[in-house]
Amino acid sequence: MTTQQAKIENVAAARTLVDAARAAVDRAVATAAELTDAGKAIDDHQAHAERIAQLATFVRAAEELASYCERHPGADPTAEAQALAFAADVVQKLRTANEAAPELLGIGDALAGSEVLDLMRAGLSDEHIGSIGAQVLESRGAHGTVLDDQIAAMTRDQFRAFARTEIIPIAQDMHREDHLVPEELIGKMADLGLFGSSIPERYGGTEMGYLTMCVLTEELSAASLVCGSLITRSEILTRALIQGGTEEQRETWLPRIASGELIVGICVTEPDTGSDVGSVQCKATWGEMDGQEGYFIDGAKAWATFAGRANILALLARTGTPEEGGRGLSLFIVPKDAHTGHSFEQGQEGGGSITGTANPTPGYRGMHSFTLGFDHYFVPEENVVGGEEGLGRGFYMQMGGFSAGRLQTGARATGVAQAALEKACHYALDRKQFARPIADFQLTQHKIGRMSTHVAAGRHLTHGAARFMQADDRVSPTTPARADLEASMCKLFVSDVAIWVSQEAQLIHGGWGYSEEDPVARYVVDALVLPIYEGTKPILELKVIARQLLAGG
Ligand SMILES: Cc1cc2nc3c(=O)[nH]c(=O)nc-3n(C[C@H](O)[C@H](O)[C@H](O)COP(=O)(O)OP(=O)(O)OC[C@H]3O[C@@H](n4cnc5c(N)ncnc54)[C@H](O)[C@@H]3O)c2cc1C
Repeated sequence: MTTQQAKIENVAAARTLVDAARAAVDRAVATAAELTDAGKAIDDHQAHAERIAQLATFVRAAEELASYCERHPGADPTAEAQALAFAADVVQKLRTANEAAPELLGIGDALAGSEVLDLMRAGLSDEHIGSIGAQVLESRGAHGTVLDDQIAAMTRDQFRAFARTEIIPIAQDMHREDHLVPEELIGKMADLGLFGSSIPERYGGTEMGYLTMCVLTEELSAASLVCGSLITRSEILTRALIQGGTEEQRETWLPRIASGELIVGICVTEPDTGSDVGSVQCKATWGEMDGQEGYFIDGAKAWATFAGRANILALLARTGTPEEGGRGLSLFIVPKDAHTGHSFEQGQEGGGSITGTANPTPGYRGMHSFTLGFDHYFVPEENVVGGEEGLGRGFYMQMGGFSAGRLQTGARATGVAQAALEKACHYALDRKQFARPIADFQLTQHKIGRMSTHVAAGRHLTHGAARFMQADDRVSPTTPARADLEASMCKLFVSDVAIWVSQEAQLIHGGWGYSEEDPVARYVVDALVLPIYEGTKPILELKVIARQLLAGG
């Protein structure tokens, strides 16, 4: 068989498996929809709803990786082999789930045909996975993803070079010393248009589009998760303002966010309220200060990342009654001064104050995540996002904003996983044991083969979600449900990939990977945060992905 034939066969085989997996998972979703009364009874079947969310997400990732190869035949041979390996892995997962609980899954014999079985075995064979590993080791983990979008491709090169010269030299120290990201770096990123990447040009943004935003985020995050995360909060507030803000608010805030003049903090979580966002207790009470009408904020917030350095906080507070749940919440833009320490206290002329203390964390350092106390802190009425019409709509705007955050997290996770993969390849090629580079051992090649396959699947799932969200925005930026499903799937999947790949990479480093001095140890602790924020993994599985799938979304 020629190499060209092998490539074509890899993609054709991947397509056969992906189509079979799609048919099977659709059946599983239909069976689960019946069981849960179209998702209304998810809480009585949480374990199964989680299973469905995961399987559907795996299938989506396999589809995106196979479609990428079909769009670029012959251009990325490693991806073609990975497409088959990943599709085979997904089919195996579906088969295993069905074997354990055939009535719950309801897949029947959808994946039992001999063609599917033969292709699955070929894709999972030690020879196939090992050969992917050998190819990836040869390129020292670097990937050759083809981007159809020229701007995205140029931006990737630009930010890769930027990350190499400006971030990598300081990333390890920033982590180990728990330093704040340097102002100089924030300034350079602002000059590159980073903070306005999703902001339309008419509001001063660079409007690079979601795909470009993901590509540059991956490059920055591969150098340092924190640097790749600098724009997350502005992405969240930007989408909330575009979807729910008044025109005057967009004109007031977006240009200043785009230029990097205003750094954003997000204040949703509270000490006693996390996943159940509709129960937020922090109160906003109507009043007057110095003849100006507005709201007084009272209460506590938790885990507000970069809230010390931020000049504005997007804060969810209760303007209605507790009984109103999410419908009693409004979103505020709260101006404050920038503080660079691990704690701060800021008074207001009318007697109000904000205090903040950073929570120590093992990773995701460099921005500091704060517990905040608000005591009668005044915010003018024009800072309620959406104005009078925005009262009681904060929950929905915040959730819309999170779609952008979740998409970006898919790209952040891809960056961390890619960095860990490359580090593992370099180490395996350089480290000798038993008189051979450890890269020569079959198991190392197999590991690298599987790791790189999952990173590729994660990357293409994220790019697919970015394209979807872009098209969705063009139709109507105010109907985010399906976009949120896609974004949540990519955050769910790639966060786990980043954790698993970074831990595998650490193991490939042996004892030296456990040293604080090695960046691979940083990748491991950084990756652990990815499934926690912007909706924990179980919340995304149950309340976003399963809920939408089972309701027929
Ligand atoms: C480093 C870091 C940075 C962060 N940055 C920010 C930020 O900038 N702004 C912000 O507002 N927040 C931020 N967060 C907070 C984060 O969003 C919350 O931690 C998260 O939403 C979960 O809330 P919680 O910690 O209160 O957990 P809880 O909601 O108490 O959940 C605890 C566990 O129970 C599970 N659980 C909860 N409800 C259910 C259910 N119905 N069914 C099944 N399982 C359930 C959860 O999945 C989780 O595993 C950050 C967190 C961290 C760690």
